[in-house]
Amino acid sequence: MDRNLISSEEPRVKRSFDQMVFVNRSLTLENIKCYGFDMDYTMAMYKSPDYESLGFELIRDRMVSIGYPHEILRYTYDPSFPTRKDINKYYPNKFIQRDDTDRFYILNTLFNLSETYLYTCLVDFFTRCTRYINAATGYQHGDLFMSYRSMFQDVRKAMDFIHDTGTLKGQTIKNLDKYVIKDPNLPILLDRIKLGAKVFLATNSDYSYTEVIMKYLLENNPTPGSQKRSWRSYFDLIVVDTKKPLFFAEGTVLRQVDTDTGKLRIGTYTGDLQKGTVYSGGSSDIVSDLLEVKGKDILYVGDHIFGDILKSKKRQGWKTFLVVPELTKEVQLWEKKKSMFEELKRLDIFLAELYKHLDSDSQECPEICAVQSRMKVLTYRMDMSYGQMGSLLRSGARQTLFASQLMRYADLYSSTCLNLLHYPFNYLFMAPPVLMPHEAVSQPSNDFASAEVTVTNNMVKMSMN
Ligand code: IMP
Ligand code: MG
Repeated sequence: MDRNLISSEEPRVKRSFDQMVFVNRSLTLENIKCYGFDMDYTMAMYKSPDYESLGFELIRDRMVSIGYPHEILRYTYDPSFPTRKDINKYYPNKFIQRDDTDRFYILNTLFNLSETYLYTCLVDFFTRCTRYINAATGYQHGDLFMSYRSMFQDVRKAMDFIHDTGTLKGQTIKNLDKYVIKDPNLPILLDRIKLGAKVFLATNSDYSYTEVIMKYLLENNPTPGSQKRSWRSYFDLIVVDTKKPLFFAEGTVLRQVDTDTGKLRIGTYTGDLQKGTVYSGGSSDIVSDLLEVKGKDILYVGDHIFGDILKSKKRQGWKTFLVVPELTKEVQLWEKKKSMFEELKRLDIFLAELYKHLDSDSQECPEICAVQSRMKVLTYRMDMSYGQMGSLLRSGARQTLFASQLMRYADLYSSTCLNLLHYPFNYLFMAPPVLMPHEAVSQPSNDFASAEVTVTNNMVKMSMN
């Protein structure tokens, strides 16, 4: 038997960290009447770094075909470089106006990794290339000026091109074993959910791609004599071309898909739910109506913090489960590096102690430079241990934008949706009690009581008693 396959005969062992589902807001699974799943990067996990390399090569080649220098073909994908994260180094106020989409582009999904790295390759190439003069906002070559902005727009357009024309999808389905993880636990999870709740699929992908991917994930070779089971039988409702985040607002016209030809039937579908039918478009309200469930009774599982999680929670009040594949690595690193975080916390307490007896009448100016620089060093070391661009979730003692959105909008989160298999379907996911700053002040600061911090010659020494 496959070692990784979940079996009901095996004795229950304690969940390891990478099998856990983490809780931001308490949720009783028993109350969930309907589970919704996104497809790409949720049920269909792409193999890293092969899939990002494929995306990278396709957009790189596209850039050359629209006129970028052939020399960029020398670049290949480096998986250690991009991390989904907002960078604030060059922003003096240490915050960005997220709504300013003219200046900022938030990397919301793992699909963005390849374009992020391609953009850095372009900057690297033009900065080093002697034919181009480095200017403040771009590069000059004769009477041609190439701004950072126009380069970014070209990369974005190339990315849309390889998605919208089906170039990336075409290459993916030519070599599914190379690019898509096939986990035998997925059909087991869907079958177990279906025993007590409804299940639907809502993906932005089109029908023909969804059909190939879901067939690959769910239709195993039947044993001789047994009946072949269609991937569609795992779902009560299948909706493709959902156009999330629009799907969670006004949505689009709901149509039926002719599963023989893959074509859309003309006209808006207005009937009841038909078993085995695939729909295109629609909205979250239509899904609730067709499945006869209320938003609060739906748990939607997706990987896109904005399009899947924030919108379904804010607009519809659905329960949400965010898939964060990077969590496996983050948890491993955290185990190794959390002593640095403990030191950061102790330094923070030490700073508070220095000011404890001072008020607006005091002239005294405590010496805090050494502590501040030690905090900076620790923060930098912590960030760098996650890779060149730091952690997806943490920057020193602070959370990233992604982490704050995750905590606010995802009720549950885990590295994979398959981790639901490690909990009974009547499980009460309890959020850990969190103290607010005004509540935390009345806690005894034991950490400080047992630590001695000395500042000499601008050096910080800390010893635990
Ligand atoms: P879902 O995660 O199953 O809803 O599907 C995501 C869909 O979005 C896939 O069909 C992707 O090809 C598509 N997609 C992801 N990133 C981009 C992009 O940058 N431009 C256009 N389509 C994209
Ligand atoms: Mg997705």
